[in-house]
Order: sequence, then C-alpha cells, then structure tokens
Amino acid sequence: MEQFDVLVIGAGVVGSAIARELTQFKLKIGVLEKNLDVCYETSGRNSAVVHGGFAYDEGTLKARLCVEGNREMTKLSQELDFTFLRCGKVLVGKTEDDLAALKRTIAQGERNGAANLKLIDKEELHRLVPAAVGEFAMYSPNSGILDPFGYTIALAENAAQNGARYFFDQEVTSISRQDGFYQITTSHGAFRTRWIVNSAGLGCGKISDMLGISGYHVIGSKGDYIILDRRTGSKLPMPIYPVPSNTYMGIHVTNTTDGNVIIGPNAELVTDFSYYGVPQSNMDYLAESAFRIWPHIHKADYIRNYSGILPKWVDDNGVIQDFKIEIRPELAPNAVNLVGIESPGLTAAVPIGRMVTEMMKEYENFPLNPEFQPKRTGILRFEAQDDQTKARLIAENPDYGEIICRCEKVSKAEILQAIHNPLGVSTVTGIKYRTRSMMGRCQGGYCQMRIAKLLEEELGILPQKLRYAHRDSWIFTGTVRKEV
Ligand SMILES: Cc1cc2nc3c(=O)[nH]c(=O)nc-3n(C[C@H](O)[C@H](O)[C@H](O)COP(=O)(O)OP(=O)(O)OC[C@H]3O[C@@H](n4cnc5c(N)ncnc54)[C@H](O)[C@@H]3O)c2cc1C
Repeated sequence: MEQFDVLVIGAGVVGSAIARELTQFKLKIGVLEKNLDVCYETSGRNSAVVHGGFAYDEGTLKARLCVEGNREMTKLSQELDFTFLRCGKVLVGKTEDDLAALKRTIAQGERNGAANLKLIDKEELHRLVPAAVGEFAMYSPNSGILDPFGYTIALAENAAQNGARYFFDQEVTSISRQDGFYQITTSHGAFRTRWIVNSAGLGCGKISDMLGISGYHVIGSKGDYIILDRRTGSKLPMPIYPVPSNTYMGIHVTNTTDGNVIIGPNAELVTDFSYYGVPQSNMDYLAESAFRIWPHIHKADYIRNYSGILPKWVDDNGVIQDFKIEIRPELAPNAVNLVGIESPGLTAAVPIGRMVTEMMKEYENFPLNPEFQPKRTGILRFEAQDDQTKARLIAENPDYGEIICRCEKVSKAEILQAIHNPLGVSTVTGIKYRTRSMMGRCQGGYCQMRIAKLLEEELGILPQKLRYAHRDSWIFTGTVRKEV
C-alpha cells in the first residue's frame, strides 16, 4: 500500500489550491478524487464571480478569505495563466428599502475590508451598464469574473508540476487509523497517509463522519442557470445583481470570460447531491426574474443550461453557518476537516489553502521545497491571437491551421495539447474544459466525434473505452452496421 505524507480528498478548486500550497514543502502529496477529472462538481458549476467580500457577516471566515482571495486574484491569474477579468459588478435597486439595504451592504463591506464600494445614481449606472434596469446601484469595482475550469485546472496542474499526484476514479469509502497512520479505502484501491485533508465539497459531511468528527448537518442548495449565446455578451460589461439577502445573492445576470451571458441561480433545497437536471419551469422563472434587471433575454439565445449544488452547513435551527476549517486532535489527529465550503469558495480557495497549511504547520515543521515553481503556462488560445501571431503559429505547427471546433475556433494543436494534459485526463469533457471546444452554439454537434477520434488515436484508446465525462458514460456501445 503506497504511503503519503498528505492525502487531500477532493479535486475541486479548494482541494487543488490546498495541494498546490502544500507542494511548497517537501511532502509526498496525493489527491484522491472520485470523478475522472477536476472540477466535475461544484467548482465547475457556479457563477464564476470573484466576489468583493461585502455580502458576508463581519468577522466570518467567508468575509476574510473572500477579501484576501479577491485582492490576490490578478497576481494569481498571471502566475497560473488563467483568465480573470476585474470588470466590476453592480447591485441594482429601485425602492427605499433597496437603498437602505445597499447602504448596509456597503457599510458591512467596508468593515470586511472590501475596497472602493460606492452608491451610484441611475445616470452613472447607465454609463457603466447601459442595459441595466434600476434607479440606483451599489458599484463594486473590484469584483470580477474568471474561467472556473481554467482556474481549477491551473491550480491542479501546478500542484502536479510541483509533485502532487492526482488519483482519479478513487471514491473514498472508509477511513481508519492505526499506528499513527490513516488507511484510506477507495472504490479502486487503498492508501496510507500521515495527514488527511477533507476537501470533499458535497461529500464533506460523509468524510467528516468517516474521520470520527460527526454531527455536521450539510444541506444542498441547488442553483440552475441558462447560458446565452455569445452574441449577447456585448450588452453586459459586468454582472448585474439584485439587492442581496444575508444568505442568498439572488438571480443575477453575469458575463463570462468567453463572452457568453449566464442567468441564475435560483436556490432550491435538495437532498440528492447528484441530480443536476434543470426543469423548464425553473428556466422560465430564471428568465422572468432576470428580465427585471436586464431586459435582453430571448429564448433564441439559449444554448444550454446547467446547475450546481452548494454544500451548506446548518445548525440545529437550520441557520447557515460559516466555513468550518478545523483540526480536532482529540477525535482525528493530523486531519484537517473542511465543512460547508459554499460560496465564496471559488474566490477564497487560495487563502483557504494557505490557512489549511498554516494550521498543519502548527503541529509539524514542514521543510521547504526549494524546487517549488509557482508559475504555470496554460494552452495558448489560437483564436485570441493577432493575425501575425496566428500566421507564425501555423508556420511553426500546421496543426494550428486546422480548426476542430468551428463555433469556438479551437485548433487541432490546442486539442492535442489538452489530450496530453499533465493530469492525464482522457474524457471528452476534459478536453472541453481545457479548450472550450463543444461549448459554442452547436454544443459539439460538429467537433465531438473529431475530438473522440483524436483521443483514440493519440492515447491508443479503443472506441468502446472512451468516456464522455463520468465513470460509466461510454460514448460508443457497439456497431450499428458492419464495415463494407
Ligand atoms: C450555484 C453556485 C454558484 C456559485 N457561485 C460562486 C461565485 O460566483 N463565486 C464564488 O466564489 N463561489 C461560488 N460558488 C461556490 C464555489 O463554487 C464553491 O465554494 C467551490 O467550488 C467549492 O470547491 P470545493 O473544491 O470545495 O468543492 P468541489 O468542487 O465540489 O470539489 C469537491 C470534490 O470532492 C470530490 N469528492 C466528494 N466526495 C468524495 C469521496 N468520497 N472520495 C473522493 N472524492 C470525493 C468531488 O467529486 C469533488 O470533485 C457557487 C456555487 C454554486 C453551487
């Protein structure tokens, strides 16, 4: 049984940020993930907004770690080569009550350390976002948007580049402790480790129970979204939110780093953490609500829907709690337990990783890893280059001249780089997340089979072994007719 210094359970944005942070020390680190790739759960299913930190109660971890994450996002995106735009965001209001709520939000934000928040009048609102509907707004210039797939993949790849090993398709099913070590049994193996980090997102309650830290009540809040065609992007320079409540940001319209617009989310309490369907009635509700703050929603622009589920830790009265990040030596020595990492977990992931590392260092002196390399380079986006650079790239590598995904203009060279990714991911969805292929108007109608063929050829996979996204999502199940 292979032995590690630290095993992180969960390869979402938080688990990957923790793994990366820990690679700054000389430790043997592994990440156990039940899915076939990073960001298959909440980290790939959200609004992708880098929050300012004004919506959380003063003194909470949510407030502190969000403000920290926001402050360092520009530097991080440059270091790890993922897309982040500090485009700002507005919260629009219409009534006296809205005005009072926005003033309270600004005061709370200032106490939390969120910078430059201000109330703006209708004229300034329309100067910033001409299509927004509101009598006034709160403007947060430091808020932004990022590519949630690129961000999570970048953290994971950099962790891997610095020595962390990712084990996919390894669902943790039991944990026991013997002679100062944890034995972890998974769906496909067994591991031994000195330290465990529970960063299992929606599975945090189950892992916490396995560690012997029982009693956390984790509920799911499901949010659905509609994705609009890129042609709508020019009408939305920054996200528009309604006035938030203490626990829910409301249905907003958000520009994405690729020029689409997303509408959502609603908030539906769920007990099934694996159902991601979006009923038509919910889509209609999202569209009706969002239309009141941004009247550019037309069914002809819908290209897809998706949903995500927030793991909310609640007390006995159902009140939503702060992030819990703890070491409980009397119950589970050498285990860091993360519970209820809901929003703003995307914004706060790297500060969470730092906090976890600092907590572990209070128990053990980790020697520094002198070879730690914080920089990582992602896949060059051909379509984003100027004509001169495109010509040079094609001259150097003719695969840049062959477009595989016509909607998003993704070249064969990019697909091949994605296929040979450092994490060893080989699903069709893994290529989609790394290149944007299949994310355009036709949703893979043209390129999906071409990508499948390239995966087969490059990795020597038989067609029957090729998976779309999940463990049993076989793309080809048999032949329809014999070859002639
Ligand atoms: C609708 C919605 C909107 C949001 N919007 C924003 C936003 O705009 N800004 C923001 O900052 N945050 C936002 N968030 C929150 C943010 O997405 C999450 O806080 C963040 O992604 C959590 O990351 P994670 O790594 O903890 O969880 P996950 O991404 O869920 O990762 C946990 C991983 O653990 C794995 N796992 C679980 N159980 C096991 C097991 N037994 N064995 C092995 N692996 C296991 C899972 O497969 C998963 O990959 C939003 C979330 C939702 C749902």
